[in-house]
Amino acid sequence: MAKIFCVANQKGGVGKTTTTVNLAAGLAKVGQRVLMIDLDPQGNATMGSGVDKRKLELTIYDVLLESATIAEARVKSEKCGYDVLGANRELAGAEVELVGVERREKRLKLALAEVAGEYDFVLIDCPPSLSMLTLNGLCCAHGVIVPMQCEYFALEGLTDLVNTIKQVHANLNKDLQIIGLLRVMFDPRITLQQQVSDQLKAHFADKVFNTVIPRNVRLAEAPSYGLPGVIFDPSAKGSLAFVEFAQEMVARIQKM
Ligand code: ATP
Ligand code: MG
Repeated sequence: MAKIFCVANQKGGVGKTTTTVNLAAGLAKVGQRVLMIDLDPQGNATMGSGVDKRKLELTIYDVLLESATIAEARVKSEKCGYDVLGANRELAGAEVELVGVERREKRLKLALAEVAGEYDFVLIDCPPSLSMLTLNGLCCAHGVIVPMQCEYFALEGLTDLVNTIKQVHANLNKDLQIIGLLRVMFDPRITLQQQVSDQLKAHFADKVFNTVIPRNVRLAEAPSYGLPGVIFDPSAKGSLAFVEFAQEMVARIQKM
């Protein structure tokens, strides 16, 4: 049965999508069966996996509105080695359309139950908000991966996310836990980043992943080629770090 992880942080531009697609590609590389779900109307994780969001006939939107199953809506990304349940602008409407609908926060969980046996990992790229979409992700996940930059306000932003996760854990999903904080876009030459990294370890101890993702221009260039960095330039420092992170995740789930 697949282990399901949300990549979430309500702060924008912190590296959620980069983490999702590169972890997916890294896991595929080490032999894991992966489904990547794009839960963001921006559709960046879809495009970044080589799937054209404008040409998709069925997306996560249809799954949430129960007009399609995941088996019908997913597509295979041959180049990346994992399956994609894509998203596009249409998904922005789901938020409103789900208002007043029964068990609206459980839609994704129910849909996933049908295909979970086909995968080792399901990774969900969340939008930069704590919305109904993110809630659908949190309701079906075993854990949350929180990418963060080691900057001054990083810890402050974490409080809201941690509280939301606690509430979902208490009321909707007993399985949910923070699997770990992933330090991304890290530059060890910047003293402040080193200090915040030390603070993170002091506060969150083993909830901080061992792997650190460096700031690396190849990771930023890859999406314009419709590829995760791990596939676009496998020998780049950032790509090697994501494969290492994939191995750390495989080791973590053995202990779950
Ligand atoms: P949003 O909140 O809008 O969904 P996000 O949290 O998904 O954003 P990304 O889109 O992954 O963030 O990353 C933001 C920007 O930073 C992108 O331009 C991406 O290419 C770049 N980026 C992410 N990680 C790295 C890295 N390790 N090194 C260099 N650039 C990076
Ligand atoms: Mg994103």
